[in-house]
Amino acid sequence: MKEHFDIAIAGGGLAGLCLSIQLARAGYKVLLCEKESYPFHKVCGEYIAIESWGFLEALGVPLVDLRLPIISKLQISDCNGRLLKHDLFPGGFGISRYTLDATLATIAKNSNVTLLEKNKVIDITYELNKHAFKTANGNFTATVVCGSWGKRSNLDQKLNRPFVQLNPNKSSHYIAVKYHIETSFPDDLIELHNFNNGYCGISKVDKDRFCLCYLTTALNLQQNHNNIQKLEENILTKNPQLHKYFNYSRFLYDSPLAISQLNFAPKEIINDHIFMIGDAGGLITPLCGNGMSMAMHASKFLAEIVNEFLKKRITRDQAERLYQETWHHHFNKRLKAGRMFQGLFGKPSVTNAAVGILRKFPSLTNKLVRLTHGNTF
Ligand SMILES: Cc1cc2nc3c(=O)[nH]c(=O)nc-3n(C[C@H](O)[C@H](O)[C@H](O)COP(=O)(O)OP(=O)(O)OC[C@H]3O[C@@H](n4cnc5c(N)ncnc54)[C@H](O)[C@@H]3O)c2cc1C
Repeated sequence: MKEHFDIAIAGGGLAGLCLSIQLARAGYKVLLCEKESYPFHKVCGEYIAIESWGFLEALGVPLVDLRLPIISKLQISDCNGRLLKHDLFPGGFGISRYTLDATLATIAKNSNVTLLEKNKVIDITYELNKHAFKTANGNFTATVVCGSWGKRSNLDQKLNRPFVQLNPNKSSHYIAVKYHIETSFPDDLIELHNFNNGYCGISKVDKDRFCLCYLTTALNLQQNHNNIQKLEENILTKNPQLHKYFNYSRFLYDSPLAISQLNFAPKEIINDHIFMIGDAGGLITPLCGNGMSMAMHASKFLAEIVNEFLKKRITRDQAERLYQETWHHHFNKRLKAGRMFQGLFGKPSVTNAAVGILRKFPSLTNKLVRLTHGNTF
């Protein structure tokens, strides 16, 4: 007999961890499988919109004790380094994924989640009202399965999801690179610097470190001999603002942390009765700085819907429909805004004109910032 769980979750990033804690605290038997082992670094800008503060505290993350930087100012430069300065309202805070995910993993274990690290989920199939959940270290069954495996995973291929079938066009596929650095930079500021075909963010996280993270097209990297250092020397540092950070900071990793094959095409929220959550359900462009808040917010309403289903107050069909409707209601506008902003960033003539216009119309900048942030949940 395979061990049976009320809920099995594939992927222990923010979405999977937050969901597992809420459902375990509601009294369910929860399995969470993560292919890595905590703590570990992750490519992410590590700026969290303030809307998530109360939610993380309620889960038990000691945000105040961690003495995190509160970020309330924004600076954007065009490809020539010309700056737009603006207040960032409602703003956010900085915390590394190394610290945050590991803290949530400890909370999950203390909340009775069966958290299996270094355990990749290999296949998920649905039959007769339950799922078979096949992992590297054992097979299980579950009444509900949630997919929180992030941007792209082996399971997307297994499920034949349409976004993985997209022709890998090198200018619509992106790569992202992240470093932790020590540098001279204010605690309350986030900067976004444009360069040819990409942009780079920098802001403070915990432990007096700064996160420097950029996104660019796969084509840009290819044109620089698939060499990250050459890409930085030839393209990024042409922006004088970035030149400063790349030349006068201490880089704390031995080598850059990089991911590839990112695309922002829409995804399905339900696949073969699996509830997709976080980046597995839809990837917002990083410059909006809101993917993490969306992952956490979705975990909150999905936990409520799963609870209704497991209590047999709604059918599986109704639960799936309700989840899709709630997801679209909360996130559609933000995802559309993200795709629109992506078009304004990283193309020198468009970016330079956009930054020029926004410098003249601060109220327009306010509106755009507001579009990328959500409300407290
Ligand atoms: C360049 C860049 C910068 C960003 N900057 C920001 C920012 O500043 N602020 C913000 O709010 N958002 C930002 N985001 C978005 C944010 O990182 C994501 O939205 C967020 O991490 C989503 O969380 P998740 O739990 O869905 O996925 P993840 O955090 O990616 O977690 C998925 C987990 O699943 C695991 N996994 C994958 N496959 C399997 C498998 N088969 N079995 C078991 N485990 C598996 C992975 O190891 C991983 O731990 C950025 C994204 C990018 C690309």
